[in-house]
Amino acid sequence: MTQATGTPLGAFDATDAPSMDGLRACVHCGICLPQCPTYRVLGEEMDSPRGRVYLMRAAAENRIGLTPTMARHLDLCLGCRACETACPSGVPFGQLLEATRGQMERRGIAAPGRDRSTLRFLLDVFPHPARLGAMLHGLRMYQWSGMQALVRGFGLLAPFKKLQAMEALLPPVPAPTAPLPEVIAPRGPRRGRAGLLLGCAQRFFYPDVNADTARLLSAAGYEVVTPRSQECCGALHLHAGHVDELRAMARRLIPLFRDVDVVVANAAGCGSALKEYAHWLPDDAARLFSERVRDVSEVLAGCDLPLRPLRETVTYHDACHLAHGQRVRAEPRELLRRIPGLTLVDLPDSELCCGSAGVYNLLEPEMAGELGRRKIARIRETGARVVAAGNPGCLMQIRQHCRAQGLAVEVVHPVTLLARALEER
Ligand code: SF4
Ligand code: SF4
Repeated sequence: MTQATGTPLGAFDATDAPSMDGLRACVHCGICLPQCPTYRVLGEEMDSPRGRVYLMRAAAENRIGLTPTMARHLDLCLGCRACETACPSGVPFGQLLEATRGQMERRGIAAPGRDRSTLRFLLDVFPHPARLGAMLHGLRMYQWSGMQALVRGFGLLAPFKKLQAMEALLPPVPAPTAPLPEVIAPRGPRRGRAGLLLGCAQRFFYPDVNADTARLLSAAGYEVVTPRSQECCGALHLHAGHVDELRAMARRLIPLFRDVDVVVANAAGCGSALKEYAHWLPDDAARLFSERVRDVSEVLAGCDLPLRPLRETVTYHDACHLAHGQRVRAEPRELLRRIPGLTLVDLPDSELCCGSAGVYNLLEPEMAGELGRRKIARIRETGARVVAAGNPGCLMQIRQHCRAQGLAVEVVHPVTLLARALEER
């Protein structure tokens, strides 16, 4: 909920001010604190959900201004929304955070030393597949030429901490693949038309996940429509508080999926943003669009898939924007359990953020690194050979930290395992 445009709220101006009702919903019980990754690492009240809501409310009541110190506490927040899951009072933390970040961003209020240029660069590149494709072509050459091995082997980026963190995250950049056909026919009895969102990271780093998603949907009886002209959904912009950019992207994307029964996302961050379009664009087109958005696991869980045995021990990490953002927890696990021969073992703290959080791990490498190390320690305890997670950012972060800590596991999207097990009818 945001305050209606035209109504300033204390230190907040009238454009997308956070909701006073949402801020007042916090009863300071502290139940959210143990679920908050930054509070678990730092143990500081102002780096907890309760502390952050306190700051936002104090600004809304004009007791404090929007200051660089407050910006720092909000910068450290992962936007993981674990606090929303824990909160018995229904505090809409994600929307409060996004609205507050939006106000600070527009007014140029930033913590001292905040790297705004890296964020701006990423937000400018990601929405444009042509720009992102060109940048990744250069990075592919860097990897294939052997330069990456030299840089890593000699630690050449060690003096440049942020650049080193970014480089370490880079997964092998696959060669460009042929685009998916715009329409794939259903196999078996027809269930309807599914529109597939390609995502930005997904389409370039994990094109196989999109191909597998289309194959599974077709096997489940969907005609799969993949509009070629689709660009970024704006998830990164929303989470960084660039709400106007999200609106512009949403307005371009929504009409492309007008004629489908369900809009399918296979990246948790994208799916969560698509489901929130209705909040940020209060019109019928956005509402009708958001109502049709589903994570791929929600769609496939309702379908009959012919699966052959796959002898693997798998553990499942809950991507924050799937578990907390979309409340999707049971469906991916249920699908994995359906694969004959597959053993699913519980991951302790599976809902604790791995530190990826969109571009957070590029902007806050220290906190992201600590959370990554903690996640790998939990994964190691399971003894699983495979880790599944439904978000490309989590796949990159967990892979990088497995590599850094010498844990030899395969890190994949759940649809990869389902597609491996899929029997051709
Ligand atoms: S969104 Fe995540 S990091 Fe931020 S306050 Fe809530 S639990 Fe903590
Ligand atoms: S659980 Fe909810 S009500 Fe309790 S302190 Fe956290 S945000 Fe406030």
